[in-house]
Amino acid sequence: MNYLRANALEQVAQLLRADPEARLLAGGQSLLAAMRLGLAAPSQLIDLQALPELHGIVLQPNSLSIGAMCTHAQIASEKNVAAFMPMLAQVAAGIGDQQIRHQGTIGGSVANHDPAACWPAALLAANATLHTSQQSISADDFFTGMFGTILQSDEILLRIEFPAFALPAQAHYEKFEQLASRFALTGVAMVASAHGVRIAITGLGAGACRWPEGEQAFETGNTTLTGIDYDATQAYDDLHASARYRAHLVKVLSLRCWKKIHTHEGLK
Ligand SMILES: Cc1cc2nc3c(=O)[nH]c(=O)nc-3n(C[C@H](O)[C@H](O)[C@H](O)COP(=O)(O)OP(=O)(O)OC[C@H]3O[C@@H](n4cnc5c(N)ncnc54)[C@H](O)[C@@H]3O)c2cc1C
Repeated sequence: MNYLRANALEQVAQLLRADPEARLLAGGQSLLAAMRLGLAAPSQLIDLQALPELHGIVLQPNSLSIGAMCTHAQIASEKNVAAFMPMLAQVAAGIGDQQIRHQGTIGGSVANHDPAACWPAALLAANATLHTSQQSISADDFFTGMFGTILQSDEILLRIEFPAFALPAQAHYEKFEQLASRFALTGVAMVASAHGVRIAITGLGAGACRWPEGEQAFETGNTTLTGIDYDATQAYDDLHASARYRAHLVKVLSLRCWKKIHTHEGLK
């Protein structure tokens, strides 16, 4: 297996087109583990570390742009992130342990789309746009199920753009952690503004997704979710929790998000 640290985006695209078995390497927190377990066997690893286009956190007039190679630790400690939407810093600070936060990247997390990852839910709730080497696409259209995204084998995720909400908005993320890994057994991200409520969930098994019934309930004043339950047939059983328990957590965590947001403990 070859290892190459790329120094130009076009070089990466050419290498990917020439070799479908090549894989991009961000911080290696998922990919190297998959290789050790024999679940992935790339012919070459193309390290993205030296590409300037994938780094940097930039506060723009109407959005915040985060490079795909930004680590969770960088996002958690960058003052522009906390000023723009503290939920994003909160998500980053709650990921894994120190080593994972310093090696793992937002781009790797999003491209990998682990069904228990936090970032995909945060991107969906915050209505983010993903900019790749080939297109700009809404988070609503990016994720396609467990470990699935619209990324083609020769496509590189460059950066993620979070829009500023035109009207005051508040956001919060609640995670019920799987204790050994700190991945989400269930996680709920909520952004509430005068435009409406966006709720995205993770950890249910099939990848991050919105919860339209929950959004509609809050928007129409049913702020206790009376009579609204997450459909447990849409959740998975595994050794950590039953589908019914995960579905119950969706409701509990959504109510906690709403309460945090509306008692001003929530993060603007
Ligand atoms: C013990 C543990 C606990 C964790 N806990 C959490 C958690 O609580 N919440 C959470 O959200 N995450 C969690 N993670 C995931 C972690 O945050 C990493 O972001 C994730 O593992 C991806 O790792 P990475 O960024 O190093 O990417 P890599 O492992 O290097 O890459 C992952 C995949 O993405 C592809 N890829 C990487 N960058 C790009 C790019 N720019 N364009 C296209 N494809 C790309 C790679 O080819 C590979 O297929 C945890 C991980 C571990 C090991």
